[in-house]
Order: sequence, then structure tokens, then C-alpha cells
Amino acid sequence: MKTYSIAVLPGDGIGPEVIAEAERALEAAGDRFGIPFTLQRFPIGAAGVAAAGDPFPEATRAAVTRGDAVLLGAVGDPSLDQAPRHLRPESGLLALRAQLGVYANLRPVAVFPALVDRSPLKADRLEGVDVLIVRELTGGLYYGEPRGRDAGGAAAVNTLRYTAAEIKRVARVAFEAARQRRGHVTSVDKANVLEVSQLWRETVTRVGQDYPDVRLDHLYVDTAAMRLVADPKAFDVLLTENMFGDILSDEAAVLVGSLGLLPSASLGEGPGLFEPIHGSAPDIAGRDVANPIGAIATVALLLRHGLGLAEPAAAVERAISLALEQGARTRDIAEPGAPALGTRAMGERIAGLIGVSHTESVGPAERNAKAQHA
Ligand code: NAD
Repeated sequence: MKTYSIAVLPGDGIGPEVIAEAERALEAAGDRFGIPFTLQRFPIGAAGVAAAGDPFPEATRAAVTRGDAVLLGAVGDPSLDQAPRHLRPESGLLALRAQLGVYANLRPVAVFPALVDRSPLKADRLEGVDVLIVRELTGGLYYGEPRGRDAGGAAAVNTLRYTAAEIKRVARVAFEAARQRRGHVTSVDKANVLEVSQLWRETVTRVGQDYPDVRLDHLYVDTAAMRLVADPKAFDVLLTENMFGDILSDEAAVLVGSLGLLPSASLGEGPGLFEPIHGSAPDIAGRDVANPIGAIATVALLLRHGLGLAEPAAAVERAISLALEQGARTRDIAEPGAPALGTRAMGERIAGLIGVSHTESVGPAERNAKAQHA
């Protein structure tokens, strides 16, 4: 069997803490399903600056394209906030994304039934919410030229430009993903106002003709923003361009109750980049309180989308749900004042549940009760 090689970039702040638990989960999945992995660590961000004077050191640059997938923690360190741009941790992250050419960002947002009460939305709106946001990541307003301020500084310009080819490739990612889910793509644009959105809509519709088994509908971005909170169950795969996706994916993240729960995958032609959506959280770094679930759920995405290993991916996701159903909570998702597990203890709990079935996972007290009922 092939040995999969994963470049692990723990990064800064809570990055190394949550990535240690992601590695533990990956190794547990490997043991359980007989899949050999080699995990090799490389510095990025402030850790890269400390190790090699560069937020994206040469050795890291070489390693990420060599491996089968890249697992990233988070970058960012307040001590470098005033540093020149080439030494900022975030420059390392942008350079990494550019090097990998990852144009499709996938962010699944599923509400865990056990955590419905941690969300700001009412429980009846949340049950069964399971949205996959597919965001175009390397085009649109954030990259378009010309850009900048005019000489006097009193006017500024950014350019929104997409080619049909850029739209087509990300649309295909969304339709393929929908085939593995509930077969529904909602494409979000502003075609009533923007020519770029008209091209977006036409192109997505054309790509959709290759996927007759997938239902396609279109929403304006303002309607989509409302529907995400009013009726989030209405979405299966939400496909959109870079800036709309940036905003809508953060709005969707609020549904689940903590930033520490959510994973992401960024895909291109080569190795994919897999990272939790949260940052380096310097306010809680080094205290064993960060929630590792976002990083562990990232491992599930790496297995499914990076390596094509659906069964171990589902086992990792099931282990997270089981741990939560059994009442395991880190501080960010615990009831105020209730006891909470540390980062490591939560990671160990989840790793121990990977590949364990629901019946195996019930504790001795519950097993006894069940036996008495039988
Ligand atoms: P953040 O995501 O790091 O933290 C926001 C809040 O959420 C903080 O209160 C933090 O304690 C909490 N939080 C985040 N992750 C958590 C977890 N796993 N468990 C429990 N609580 C968690 O965002 P920020 O504070 O705006 O940024 C901090 C640094 O991270 C900055 O340098 C920023 O540039 C960087 N950042 C990096 C990335 C990335 O690497 N992809 C993303 C966002 C921010």
C-alpha cells in the first residue's frame, strides 16, 4: 500500500497545540485502517521567521509541493504586527496558497446536535444544518488589477475580474462535491447589478449541464445572506466567488457556536492545503485550552479530499460527534462554569474513538443499563 506523505506546518500560537491533536487523529486513523503515513514538520509564519528569517522558508516551500497534502495550523504573532510586509507571518500563508495554486476553498459547516444550545440561533432552525461552502480563492476583487489609491489619496480602485475558465474550474469542484452529498448546488452572485456575476451565472449554468443529476439554483448574495440565518437547512453546496465567499463563510461559521470547531480545505491541481478556519489565537496560546476539533475535522477533509480516503474520513468525523455526544467539552463550548477538557485530553478522547462503532462507544454504566433492559 502507498505511504502517504503529509507536510505538517504547525505555525504559531495555538497552531502547534491543535496540530499535535490532528496528528494524533491521523495516526489513529492510519492504525485503525492500515494506512501508512509519514508526517514531517516544517516551520511557517512567525515560526519560519524565528527558524530561518522567512515566514515561508525555502525548506518549507520545497516540502509542500513534494508531499501528498499539506496540514496547516495557523499563523500570526502580535510581535510581528509592525514588521515589514515580507517578514509578516500572513505573507507566508499567502505565499503558500499561491505556490500550491489552490483555487477552491471548501468550508463545511455542520451543526453538531450535541451543541445546538451553543449557537446563537434557535434550535429548530439548526437541526440538520449541513452546508458546504465552495469559495473561489485566487481570483476576483482581492487580486484584480489595477488596484490602489490615486496620488492624492482621496480616491481608490479595486478591480473585479473573472475569466470563464476560472469560474468553470471552481464550479466543477462544487458539482462534484454535490454528487457526494445531497445533489444540490446553490450558486450565489449579484447578476442583477454586476456583469462579472452575469458571466458567473452563465458559466455555472453551462457547467451544470454536465451534471444533470445535480439540482442547480441561483441566489443573489443579499438573499443568500438572509437565508443563511433564516433557513440554513435550505443549503447543500453553496458556490460563490472570492469576496462573497469570504463574508458568507464567516456568517455561516457563527451557526455552529465556536470558531474552534470548523475545518477547511483548499484545492487546486497539486497537493491540497488543509487548515482549521481559526487563527493563532495568541490570547489563549500555550495554555492547553484551545479546541482541537477544527484541526481534527481538518484531518477528515485531508483524508477525503486530499487522499481520496472516504471511510477513514467518516470515522474521524464520527469520533468527533461521539465525543461530543458523550459530553466532552473544551472551554469554548462548555456551559459557563462547567468543567472542561484541555486541548490534549480532548484530542486523546477523539483519537480513542476513531473507528469505534456507536455500540462499542457507550460507557460501562450505559452498557449495564442496556443489558438489564434486554
Ligand atoms: P483567531 O481565530 O485567532 O481568534 C479569535 C477568537 O477565537 C479568540 O478569542 C480566540 O481565543 C478564539 N479561538 C480561536 N480559535 C480557537 C480554538 N481553537 N479554541 C478556542 N478558542 C478559539 O482570530 P484573531 O484573534 O483575529 O487573530 C489572531 C492571529 O491569527 C492574527 O495574527 C491573525 O492575523 C491570525 N489569523 C490567522 C489565520 C490563519 O492562519 N489562517 C486566520 C485568521 C487569523
